[in-house]
Amino acid sequence: MLNRPGFLQVKLKQIQIMRPFKYTNASSSAAAISLLLQNPSAQFLAGGTNLIDLMKEDVERPDELIDLTRLDLTTISPLSAGQGGVSIGALGKNTDAANHPIIREHFPLLSRAIFAGASAQIRNMATNGGNLLQRTRCPYFYDTAMPCNKRSPGSGCAAKDGFNRMHAILGWSEACVAVYPSDMAVALSALDASVKVIQADGKTRSISIHDFHRLPENHPEKDNTLKRGELISSITIPKNGFAGNSAYIKVRDRNSYAFALVSVGAGLAMDGNTITTAHIALGGVAHKPWRAWKAEALLKGKTATEANFRIAAEAEMEQARALSYNKFKIVLGKNTIINALKMAAEGAKRRG
Ligand code: SF4
Repeated sequence: MLNRPGFLQVKLKQIQIMRPFKYTNASSSAAAISLLLQNPSAQFLAGGTNLIDLMKEDVERPDELIDLTRLDLTTISPLSAGQGGVSIGALGKNTDAANHPIIREHFPLLSRAIFAGASAQIRNMATNGGNLLQRTRCPYFYDTAMPCNKRSPGSGCAAKDGFNRMHAILGWSEACVAVYPSDMAVALSALDASVKVIQADGKTRSISIHDFHRLPENHPEKDNTLKRGELISSITIPKNGFAGNSAYIKVRDRNSYAFALVSVGAGLAMDGNTITTAHIALGGVAHKPWRAWKAEALLKGKTATEANFRIAAEAEMEQARALSYNKFKIVLGKNTIINALKMAAEGAKRRG
């Protein structure tokens, strides 16, 4: 029995040593950043809904966790007078964001995406900032016996010629074909959100959500553009004119505890039946939330008809390149864009 590679692999996993780590409670943002910068192997801990899993699988091996959960970064509040947007504390829970009256009334697309995102138990633990930092669910990334450039740069990509049904059709590289798993981030992309971070010197900077996550190119080990020592403090969403005409559709293999095959967040600012601006973002198709700029440009000034939605969806998907097992996602992507746009266009009528 011991000669069977699969058996041996399982046994090796079972006897993997428990790795000790130091646990520290941060008393302030500055203290948290300072602690992190003192130890190159330290990581921030918030809800832990992804990081702890990765540690159990021996994918992440921090020797110190700096717990952020006592920091006062949980508030959801309107942006200053007249702006009409909202600021969402990074350490607030996903459930609280999805249920907040400001979010439900003015940014229902975000509420719907969060509710589509996970089980209630996970939403109750997961934080808003942590949601943006979750890592791909590519199964080869989680299997330390397999080559994976994201986990171990230069080792190869087992998914590229492996079972890649769940993987990317847009923006992938030879180095990595993984997709980004967050639903919340897809909505934030459609909503043109920004991520506010505290830097190592105590100053803050704001990163557009479109620049926060990145395509894999030759460095799939980097999921985002955060620098070491930067701490997400809040997410801001500007006012928009499409709260009543927005939709989020997530297509998945089963209705719960599943990541998107394809998801689409869509919002249409309308003047009668004419689209003044379209906002469309896709999940489950790329290494980052995929903003459908091409489709949006084609819809601007057009009437909200299925024919126009189809033209826009097909134009966006012209860029798609299927892997061996995920060609179906191209058709699924087109149809999901069309359906989300139809729902968004009908939104006011449906809810009215
Ligand atoms: Fe690793 Fe990316 Fe390849 Fe998955 S797709 S095995 S995460 S390099």
